[in-house]
Amino acid sequence: MLRIANFIGGQHVPPLAGQYLPNIEPATGQVHAELPDSDGRDVEAAVQAALAAFTPWSRTPAAERSRLLLDIAARIEANLDRLAHAEAVDAGKPLRLARTVDIPRAASNFRFFATAIVHCHSEAYRTDQLALNYTLRQPRGVAGLISPWNLPLYLFTWKVAPALATGNTVVAKPSELTPLTAHLLTELCQEAGLPPGVFNVVHGLGSKAGAAIVAHPRVPTISFTGGTVTGAEIARTAGPLFKKVALELGGKNPNIIFADADLDAVLPTSIRSAFENQGEICLCGSRIFVEASIYPSFVERFVAAAAKLNVGDPLTPGTDQGALISAKHRDKVLSYIQLAKEEGGRILCGGGPPANVGERCQAGYFVQPTVIVDLPVDCRVNREEIFGPVVTITPFQDDAEVVRYANATPYGLSASLWTRDLNRAHQLAEKIDAGTVWVNCWLLRDLRVPFGGMKQSGVGREGGEEALRFFTEPKTVCIRLTGDM
Ligand code: NAD
Repeated sequence: MLRIANFIGGQHVPPLAGQYLPNIEPATGQVHAELPDSDGRDVEAAVQAALAAFTPWSRTPAAERSRLLLDIAARIEANLDRLAHAEAVDAGKPLRLARTVDIPRAASNFRFFATAIVHCHSEAYRTDQLALNYTLRQPRGVAGLISPWNLPLYLFTWKVAPALATGNTVVAKPSELTPLTAHLLTELCQEAGLPPGVFNVVHGLGSKAGAAIVAHPRVPTISFTGGTVTGAEIARTAGPLFKKVALELGGKNPNIIFADADLDAVLPTSIRSAFENQGEICLCGSRIFVEASIYPSFVERFVAAAAKLNVGDPLTPGTDQGALISAKHRDKVLSYIQLAKEEGGRILCGGGPPANVGERCQAGYFVQPTVIVDLPVDCRVNREEIFGPVVTITPFQDDAEVVRYANATPYGLSASLWTRDLNRAHQLAEKIDAGTVWVNCWLLRDLRVPFGGMKQSGVGREGGEEALRFFTEPKTVCIRLTGDM
């Protein structure tokens, strides 16, 4: 069985305490690898390696950092099949999705920041005849990067690439539930010739290895993607240490459909935004609001399409929806379906595990696509993040009412809005609490735009210039000008 190692100072090394955790394949419930159960001592070793590598790496010309990151991007692409298979096994997601979304996006993340770093600029201000001011953007030192299990390599590289491109060194921890592709990435970085200590990976539990990274006094930058409760804990530790922190947290996103929308486009995209990756995407539209005049016909067509989705072995071609990440998470999702019934909801399809997912996956963690109606907007099922293949559908009468509904959660990550009325789209986009509003689409991503959430969905933004700014310290240099100008 594969025994994953930490990657510290350019070497694959075992955890100092010699302890390992089981790595379970969600589709089968079987252990398929072991990962280090690292503790503070492993983190200390990784931070020391990153500190030692910082000065040379931060002084490496941007063109050379760019070349190395482009090389890593090319190696990710060359290993598409191997990485996609590892991701599908580790996360329970359809192999098709890992091949077409997760792994290509990981390569794009490296390519995007590798090229961004050779095109960036900083401000300069002339203060009348008195002075010239300009801004240096310097790397901040060791960046601590912590990522979740739902889009493992995709989100891991979304942090690693900008941190390295800007000249920081890195101590990163992928989720303990999906360590495999981060481990394979360390091999690719080694092959690409990334200098030792520039990129370090410590595997293990959030409460042990993750917490040790966040609390380490020599790690001044923390970029975290994960749950809102964990984000609050990280903020409590990092605040008094004056760390620069970015928190990308949970979501409970509205998908708003007006009667004038093109229903033939709305339906397939809404099915994707509800159930893609088993509904385990922070951006999923889990609350669907439909204008009352088309509500009955929309519900009928949506339920018919949801019921047709193929739930089963992630490795089988044609599977639309794989397994949830763990038995614990499956039970959490099922508990929300039970709660929906108690809160007065009517389950129109799904509602539990599928009857038959084939012999190999009998002990896997599957839940059918589930559609619930008749729930009040302010009930728990409509306010709390479920993070599974469960959506609610609610009718609305007018723009004001649907804005109220959309904003009735503590989250503010993203929203989708379907209408042919451009004026209405502009007006509503301004009023909805969300870091991103998609109009007549969902998950259409341009890596240059700011990405992140408001309210309890997070603090700070990733992507494009926002990421380059986050991972650098702005320093103003003011030069007094003298003499006759
Ligand atoms: P999680 O918060 O349980 O774990 C995320 C990461 O943090 C893991 O690597 C974990 O080991 C680590 N961690 C846990 N406790 C820690 C602690 N005390 N200190 C430091 N690190 C700790 O989240 P999850 O269950 O892995 O991911 C699902 C959540 O992530 C959902 O809420 C989802 O909405 C959110 N998410 C948000 C975005 C976004 O961009 N906003 C993207 C993907 C997922």
